[in-house]
Amino acid sequence: MQFSQIVGLEETKTHLRMLADEGRMPHALMLSGSEGVGALGLAVALAQYMACSNRHDGDSCGVCPSCRRMAKLQHPDLNFCMPVVKVTPTKDEDPEAYLRDRWIEALQTNPYLTPSRWYTELGATGKQGLISAEMAEAIIEKLWYKPVELPMKFMVVWQPERMHPVAANRLLKVVEEPPEQTVFLFVSHHPELVLPTILSRVQQVIVPPVLEDDMVKALQHEGADSAKAQEIARVARGNYAQALELLREGDNQEMLALLMDLLRSGYSNNYEGIFTWVSLVLALGREREKELLAYLARMVREIYMLNLNLPELCYLIGPAREFAAKVAPYVNGRNIGWLLDAYQEAYQHVAGNGNENIIFTDLGLRHCQLLGKGVV
Ligand SMILES: [Zn+2]
Repeated sequence: MQFSQIVGLEETKTHLRMLADEGRMPHALMLSGSEGVGALGLAVALAQYMACSNRHDGDSCGVCPSCRRMAKLQHPDLNFCMPVVKVTPTKDEDPEAYLRDRWIEALQTNPYLTPSRWYTELGATGKQGLISAEMAEAIIEKLWYKPVELPMKFMVVWQPERMHPVAANRLLKVVEEPPEQTVFLFVSHHPELVLPTILSRVQQVIVPPVLEDDMVKALQHEGADSAKAQEIARVARGNYAQALELLREGDNQEMLALLMDLLRSGYSNNYEGIFTWVSLVLALGREREKELLAYLARMVREIYMLNLNLPELCYLIGPAREFAAKVAPYVNGRNIGWLLDAYQEAYQHVAGNGNENIIFTDLGLRHCQLLGKGVV
């Protein structure tokens, strides 16, 4: 990953380059920024920059052997520690290798990986992961080996705020007295939740929201016209991951239509409508069905923000936003938890090769119970 792949944030990049160029890199750095601004991508770009044998123009070269392996996230001196949920690999893979493969795939294709996106990749939409004591132990063990190829090795710790207290205390000892040639790159979305003892031992760099102008340019580069890019940048408020989702959803009328059918049939207790909806969903195929479930979970959360009268936290534009405003009264504090659980459960059953007809019929009918006039 190169700095140029992360949108904007010029001041932050300059600061990080300076630390590296002047040999002032602390042994533990923490990049703190909201989800979607690019803090995780920046940490990886910084590691690649420091490892590059031919940096120029303020970035890693992208072509030297070190850069090529860093770009694939498979450099032997690049280690990751991130929260995970319990997974059940489908093949005979061991869980650790399975997680590593999913992680590399997820981050490589998306430098703006967010926690919810990551848990969705693991088949656990709506769940919260944790860095367990065992994981921290396994990571710490790796650090006692000498770097394989570089003068130093990197440990990128994503979301130290999601660390089990036992894990945090073990890691703390290592951060206090780190093995030689180790650089810790913490990336936090909630530094206020990081253990104060860890916080006091890292040098913190704040990663600000992406500037609207930078975002507009980047969105145009991704193919949006000027008006669309400006509309998205305004709603996304510095969160580029969100902006990309909005851009892609523009091309995704099918998912929006399915959301509308489901919620409308649900709140009007229209069983006929639910059965029609199920037949449309079954035509999608298993992979798209999983995407639909992740989409539904995200959308009802957005709609719920309008129900709470927090429009500034609702990241929707165009027809999706108009629809959300109409159905907001039906998605409320009494049913939001049930709805999210229902999508999560359906996702697991679809991923586990359950009978899709039964899964989606059950899900559809639950919308009648949860949104239907009798309950609301
Ligand atoms: Zn290079």
